[in-house]
Amino acid sequence: MTKALSIRGLRKTYDNGFEALKGIDLEVSQGDFYALLGPNGAGKSTTISIICSLVKKTAGDVHVFGKSISEEPAEAKKFIGLVPQEFNFSNFESLWDIVRNQAGYYGLPKKLAEERTEKYLKKLGLWEKRHNAARMLSGGMKRRLMIARALVHEPKLLILDEPTAGVDIELRRSMWDFLREINGQGITIILTTHYLEEAESLCRHIGIIDQGQIIEDTNMKVLLKRLQKEVFIFDVVGE
Ligand code: ADP
Ligand code: MG
Repeated sequence: MTKALSIRGLRKTYDNGFEALKGIDLEVSQGDFYALLGPNGAGKSTTISIICSLVKKTAGDVHVFGKSISEEPAEAKKFIGLVPQEFNFSNFESLWDIVRNQAGYYGLPKKLAEERTEKYLKKLGLWEKRHNAARMLSGGMKRRLMIARALVHEPKLLILDEPTAGVDIELRRSMWDFLREINGQGITIILTTHYLEEAESLCRHIGIIDQGQIIEDTNMKVLLKRLQKEVFIFDVVGE
């Protein structure tokens, strides 16, 4: 079956000469819940930005549901909903307009665009606030607004870049429940995080990235077993 995401030999050298990605290989199956885990500066956002055609790659191949981001960028982009790390909407627009405009960007006809805007503002618990300007929202609500916006064209792949950084634990849990629910409905999810706990709680597969390289790519159960063993050995040595 076609992979939701396939990355081969991905490299990125920024204009200042800094090599942020040093040859990344990564595959995510359809329906998977995949965590890209790594410390600050590892290259998570760079990878995500390239997948979404926001940053140009230096070398390598990226396919989204079989569509090359270099050769068929518009097709590849349609499959993806992105929740970026930084808030990137106008603080002065209403929630309704922010989500509705995104539906327009994807070319949804008026009626469908409005139905979807309503559906996802409701799903994310933002319907009552639809006429408010985005600046009125709390941090957690802003994050939910970006999720509603990312889902409005009903992508097959949802990518979230550190969605719960700085979000309190209660809200984090409710966001996890929501992500589990939509993954259960068939949407493939990729999430970057620097919390192992988050990856452990949500994800079936995990890639660990450090200094622009994938240093581990495995399923969550295998990783946890290994970590337990390492902790155990460490404990014995420490006695
Ligand atoms: P992460 O999301 O894992 O924290 P990033 O992908 O944002 O990491 O950044 C990876 C590395 O690339 C960091 O060292 C960062 O400073 C560097 N970097 C990111 N953007 C740029 C840029 N536009 N120009 C130069 N270096 C950059
Ligand atoms: Mg980042």
